[in-house]
Amino acid sequence: MKNLFFELKYYLLFLIIFVVLFIGIIFSPKISISSDNQEFIQKEVVREKVLFSDDRLSLEVDTNDVVQIFEIKKNDTLLNLLKESNIKDVYIRTLIKTSGSEKLAQIKVGDILEVKKTISGEPDEIFLTTNELDGILATYKNGLFKIQNFSRPLEKLERFASVTINNSLYESAVSEGLSDSLIMDLVYLFGWDIDFIFDIRPGDKFDVLYEDFYWKGKQVKNPDIKAARFLRGNKVYTAIRYFYKDGTKEYFSLRGKNVKKAFLRTPVEFSYISSKYNLNRKHPVLNKIRAHTGVDYAAPKGTPIISTSSGSVSYIGNKGGYGKLIEIKHSEDYSTRYAHLFKYKKGLKLGDKVSQGEVIGYVGKSGLATGYHLHYEFRVNGMHTDPLTVKLPDAEPIGDSEKEGFQNLAVRMINRIDNLYLQIYAAN
Ligand SMILES: [Zn+2]
Repeated sequence: MKNLFFELKYYLLFLIIFVVLFIGIIFSPKISISSDNQEFIQKEVVREKVLFSDDRLSLEVDTNDVVQIFEIKKNDTLLNLLKESNIKDVYIRTLIKTSGSEKLAQIKVGDILEVKKTISGEPDEIFLTTNELDGILATYKNGLFKIQNFSRPLEKLERFASVTINNSLYESAVSEGLSDSLIMDLVYLFGWDIDFIFDIRPGDKFDVLYEDFYWKGKQVKNPDIKAARFLRGNKVYTAIRYFYKDGTKEYFSLRGKNVKKAFLRTPVEFSYISSKYNLNRKHPVLNKIRAHTGVDYAAPKGTPIISTSSGSVSYIGNKGGYGKLIEIKHSEDYSTRYAHLFKYKKGLKLGDKVSQGEVIGYVGKSGLATGYHLHYEFRVNGMHTDPLTVKLPDAEPIGDSEKEGFQNLAVRMINRIDNLYLQIYAAN
C-alpha cells in the first residue's frame, strides 16, 4: 500500500516535470532556436528504488512516532537537545555508554539532529546529518543503542541522452536538458583525450547513460554517469563506471584502460600559459639565452598549486633561481617540479605522500621571476620533457582479478546504450 502510494506520488511528480519541460521548450526562444531540427531526446529509462540492507533503519515517519528536527545553533550540545526533546535520562545514559556515541556528540552549527521517538517517549532513532542524507544514526531496540554511519535510501532514476554537438559541447548539452554538473563530469571523463575548448568538430556526438537521485520527490545529489561514449567520425571513446568493493569508482574504456592519465595536464586552475618550454629562450631576468625547461602558468598570487599525480615529496625548500621549490617523485621514471612558490602547503615536508590533485603550495614569484607565476617541470628518467606535449602514461587499468566482472558489465552497458539510442531515433 505504502509502495503503491510512493509510486503514484512519483508518477505525478514526473507528469508535472514533463509538463513544465514541455512548456519550457515551447516558450523558451533560446532552446527552440538552438535545437532547430533536434527533438528533445533526453529519456527517462528505469526507475529503481535503492534499498538499504536493513529496512528497519528507514527514518520514515510512522503514525506511532514523533519526529523532532533541530538545526544546531551555537552552544547546542547533544545532551541539551536530547533533554529538550524529552528523552528520559535513563536512555541518554545508555546512549552515552554505547560505542560510537562520541561521533554523535560531535555536533556542529548548521548540522541537523533528527530525534524520532514513540508516543510513549521511548527513543527510536537519533540521526545527526549535515546534508539530511548521510550521517550518524543511533537506533534503539531491546534496551540497546546501535550507532553506525547511515545514508538515506534514495530513489534512483536512470536516464539517457544523445547529443550532437553544434558548436560548443556546453551549449549543445544544455539545450538537451543536461545539468552543469553532468556536463562537467563528461568533460572530465573525455577531457583526457579530447580538448573540448579548442577541438570540437561539428558532428561530434555523445551518448550518456546516467542516474539521478531523489529523496521524497526532491532531486538530491548530482547525477552520476554509468556509461558514456563520445563519437567522432569512426572513432569512439567509451567510459564505463566500475565500483570497486570498497565503494570507490573508476571509469574504464571497453578494453579496461583507465580513461584518466596518470598526470593532470595543468597544475594550476584559472591560469594561462605565459611561457612555453623552449630550449633557446632569452631569460627575462638574466637577459641571456637560457633554456626554459618547463612551462610557466601566470596566475594571481596565492592561487593553489596541485600535484599533477600521486607521489611523494622529494624536495621542498629554496633552490637558487627556482625560489621556493617542490619536487614530487611519482615513480622510478617520473617526477615534477613546481617553482617560484609564494608558500608551501602548511605542514608539507620531505617524504610526505601526496595524491593527484592535492594542493601542495601557492603561486608566488620567489627566486628569479618577473611576475606571479608557476614554473612547472616534467622529468622522465631525470630528463627535462615538455609537459605540454609529453605523452602522458595512463592511470592504472582494471585489475586482473576484476577484469571478467568488468567486461560483463561493459558489454551490458554498451548494449543498453545501443538499444536506447535506437529507441530514440526510431521514435523521431
Ligand atoms: Zn619558467
